[in-house]
Amino acid sequence: MSDLSEFIRISQELGDDMAFVQAGGGNTSQKIDSKIMAVKSSGSFLRDITINKGYCLVNFQEIKKYHNNLPKDELRYSNDMNSFVTKGDGRPSMESGFHAIIPKKYVLHSHPVYLNVLLCSEQGEEILLDLFPYSLFIKAIAPGKDLSMEILSLLNEGNSREEYVFFLQNHGLITASDDLLACYKTHLEISNSIKEAYAFKTFNYMDNQNIHPILFDNNLFPDQIIFSKHEDTKSPGYVENLSAANYIFTQINDSKLTPLFLSNELTNYIASMDSEKYRFNLDQK
Ligand SMILES: [Zn+2]
Repeated sequence: MSDLSEFIRISQELGDDMAFVQAGGGNTSQKIDSKIMAVKSSGSFLRDITINKGYCLVNFQEIKKYHNNLPKDELRYSNDMNSFVTKGDGRPSMESGFHAIIPKKYVLHSHPVYLNVLLCSEQGEEILLDLFPYSLFIKAIAPGKDLSMEILSLLNEGNSREEYVFFLQNHGLITASDDLLACYKTHLEISNSIKEAYAFKTFNYMDNQNIHPILFDNNLFPDQIIFSKHEDTKSPGYVENLSAANYIFTQINDSKLTPLFLSNELTNYIASMDSEKYRFNLDQK
């Protein structure tokens, strides 16, 4: 079995920067042999991952096979995904599907606030494809099953890369490579280059506690939908996600971009998902 120590260190480091990961969001994986993958546990915090906790071992070959013939029902999908755990701490990340499907040893996924200014604006798609022509862009879609299926169909179309960069509209970033440090470097550089190009202020959640009222009726990304319902406005899920939404919305306006909110249909669907309810409940403890 290959060593997980470097993967754990990079996961902690990425998770420790709130400009990339808010509360229990974001997830990382390492394929450790021809069958088994370590992937962050659902609802656990990336910054708290250690060699002893915060991740599951799953059979990624079985997960890949399972995606060739999926059930329509999200509750069943969410339950079935748990059956692929061979050893672990809680449920595997709801995004384990795309971690298994992307044919690289390391997959890093986060919600970078600087990049999300573009991914949550009307103009973002064109700007990003222009800046990063080798990247793959995915329009707003529900996380979990639907996102994994979208990535599978993009890969089946023959979009092979040595290093993958997926931009997820209204969501975040995935980078994947067989080289962990290269994958991490690309991940940081994409976000930081956008921050620099647009001269965005450094994100500090303390400066974004006064949430714009529009953000209680309109959602920029999935975790905002889930955690804005929190009665405990001091919980990390609420504080970190709502301050990120407020920051992104402010920067969109200051940069003269047009905010792109999730549709009502997608919002209602995401709010109803079993895997999202599970994550919400973990944040309430
Ligand atoms: Zn995500």
